[in-house]
Amino acid sequence: MLPTKKHRIALISVDGDPAAEIGQEEAGGQNVYVRQVGCALAQQGWQVDMFTRRSSREQAAIVQHGPLCRTIRLKAGPAAFIGRYDLFDHMPEFIAEFKAFQQQQGYHYPLIHTNYWLSSWVGMELKKQQPLIQLHTYHSLGVVKYSAISDIPAIGSKRLAVEKACLETVDRVVATSPQEQEHMRRLVSTQGQIEVIPCGTDVDKFGSIQRSAARQELGIAPDAKMVLYVGRFDRRKGIETLVRAIAKSSLRCSDNLQLVIGGGYRPGHSDGNERDRIAGIVAELGLEDCTTFPGRLDDSVLPLYYAAADVCVVPSHYEPFGLVAIEAMASRTPVVASDVGGLQFTVVPEVTGLLVPPKDEAAFADAIDRIVINPTWRDQLGEAGRQRVEIAFSWHSVASRLTQIYTHLLAQTMPSIESKAQVAA
Ligand code: UDP
Repeated sequence: MLPTKKHRIALISVDGDPAAEIGQEEAGGQNVYVRQVGCALAQQGWQVDMFTRRSSREQAAIVQHGPLCRTIRLKAGPAAFIGRYDLFDHMPEFIAEFKAFQQQQGYHYPLIHTNYWLSSWVGMELKKQQPLIQLHTYHSLGVVKYSAISDIPAIGSKRLAVEKACLETVDRVVATSPQEQEHMRRLVSTQGQIEVIPCGTDVDKFGSIQRSAARQELGIAPDAKMVLYVGRFDRRKGIETLVRAIAKSSLRCSDNLQLVIGGGYRPGHSDGNERDRIAGIVAELGLEDCTTFPGRLDDSVLPLYYAAADVCVVPSHYEPFGLVAIEAMASRTPVVASDVGGLQFTVVPEVTGLLVPPKDEAAFADAIDRIVINPTWRDQLGEAGRQRVEIAFSWHSVASRLTQIYTHLLAQTMPSIESKAQVAA
């Protein structure tokens, strides 16, 4: 049951700015999730303040997204881009700024929902200093991520310890798929309370344009075989597997193949370097004539790319959820994805797309071929994907599930939180 009076709540996403432009190095699914969840919660009556760190001097300190929803950027280190591996040392400053902000406003947040391990640490530290309820969404688990890479960062052991403490002590952890929940239980801790609430997508933004109309707008030939990747340039995303799979498939540049690799990158940054590495492989495989890198796809064109494609490929090595898969499905485009993590939850094999072993170029090639050469089946998969998203993955339903949990936790602990806050005041 919804409460009559909803509280002011804080979503904390230190490293993933909900007001940022999406699609670059460190702006991806987490930023979209926080922004969409925040706005959907506000529509249900919560007063939502989303806290992040300021990463450039040009950024506004406060961005108002709607009457009840805003992003607040706090100082934590210099106002410049700082990679996730180097952010931890600035967290105490973030906490001090958060507390100063509360004091200035004359209230404190009875409930915070933290995102990614850095913010979980912020939340756990705050909880030692003031009464509050903490929920947490991981977005990525260090223990899973590190099992897939050889160069584990120096901060790695700290992250693992914080992620374990978080699962064991916060009031509720939100897993975005049953697969993520299973990873937490098997690899992080058997203690703590987990609730599975998937991510959502905008079912009005995606899926409102036909394939032919989208192609016309983008200047893509009606008979082109279009294979799409959307996402950050990060090795974990497996773009190399996609490119090598295309070279192994039956598709040829001379037969009007169009491989579109969408996502932002900045020269000299790690995403720019990955983009150059991928471009090198494209050239080496002779795919230059039919491959494009359109850069960051913003909201004005992203739905067109999804709608225009014959197939959207999500070749990630690891994916806790994978928003791109449900965005493509909402757009009636079948998905070929790695058989990992949340993709096992969103993509229904042979119904909305196909799942293949990660890094398996031959299996990706075969799966892409099967869909692209059979437009009737492609359309059936696309329609089934759309239906699945409409039923299971809307931001409104995500916010409703969160509202139930927030309300329940607040009702359980509110009297004690309020009395402690009065003592502290
Ligand atoms: N995205 C975008 N423009 C781009 C590339 C990506 O808007 O050029 C968005 C994409 O639509 C999705 C998000 O970035 O909403 C990526 O989320 P996902 O969960 O797939 O991956 P993550 O970034 O969390 O690894």
